[in-house]
Amino acid sequence: MTNLVPARVAYATGPRDERAAATEVAAARRTRDVPDLATFDVILVNSSGGKDSQAMLDVVAVAASAARVLHRVVVQHNDLRRVEWPGTRDLARRQAEHYGLRFEVRRRSGPDLLEDIRQRGKFPDAARRWCTSDHKRGPGRTLITALVHELRLDRPARVLQCFGFRAEESPGRAGRAELSYDQGASTQTTRHVWTWLPIHSWTVDEVWARIHATGVPYHPAYDLGMSRLSCSFCVLASKRDLLTACRARPDLAYEYAAVEAEIGHSFRKDLRMAQLIEEAGM
Ligand code: SF4
Repeated sequence: MTNLVPARVAYATGPRDERAAATEVAAARRTRDVPDLATFDVILVNSSGGKDSQAMLDVVAVAASAARVLHRVVVQHNDLRRVEWPGTRDLARRQAEHYGLRFEVRRRSGPDLLEDIRQRGKFPDAARRWCTSDHKRGPGRTLITALVHELRLDRPARVLQCFGFRAEESPGRAGRAELSYDQGASTQTTRHVWTWLPIHSWTVDEVWARIHATGVPYHPAYDLGMSRLSCSFCVLASKRDLLTACRARPDLAYEYAAVEAEIGHSFRKDLRMAQLIEEAGM
């Protein structure tokens, strides 16, 4: 395992030293290797319960076990309530338990995503993904705060947050670095947060091969034909996935259509939920 995060960088200069941070990032890009997990106080795995999270969790668990820091790994699931596929939270829990890992659920206080859409009078879109920032990233930050507080360190905690993002998912994700310093999640005095994308370069076939090799259960929505999980009706999903979701979750589809009609704003610029329902033959 290559040490990409030498202690000199981690503690003497601190990640706010731009040159040190750039050195770490450049090293990760060059080697496509595992960062030195032993230099992090908390390794936080963000699990949607979907296939990419599941494969990524296996990679992180194996690497953390090899580095003898499996006890520092915490799996977090952001509960999206009615808009996520039924059973997702419990599945994410079982996947974490398979590796003997601590499991934490966070959810946004206040309205769930669909009610939030109704109150705002508009759906999110690719350019305005407040759904992710408000309903996923925001609640996730509260867990980082709590975990760092538990440690009671007399120095800033080093936190490595792991995501199952893959380059082939979108141009936006392709442009992300495998290891980067998260300025927005970090503070000067309490925590220095890094983001690691362990399966960034993987293909979907590699993801499924890894899942099948582990024997850990995956969400049954994939066997219905879904290519992605998370929100059943994601504004960024393919039409094929949306039609599959309509047939699998007709009640929720009608709830989306009712909100769409009430606010007079289309689910997607090019696609109304009412049209999807009709095309799904419901
Ligand atoms: S899955 Fe789609 S709709 Fe749901 S939070 Fe993510 S981007 Fe937004």
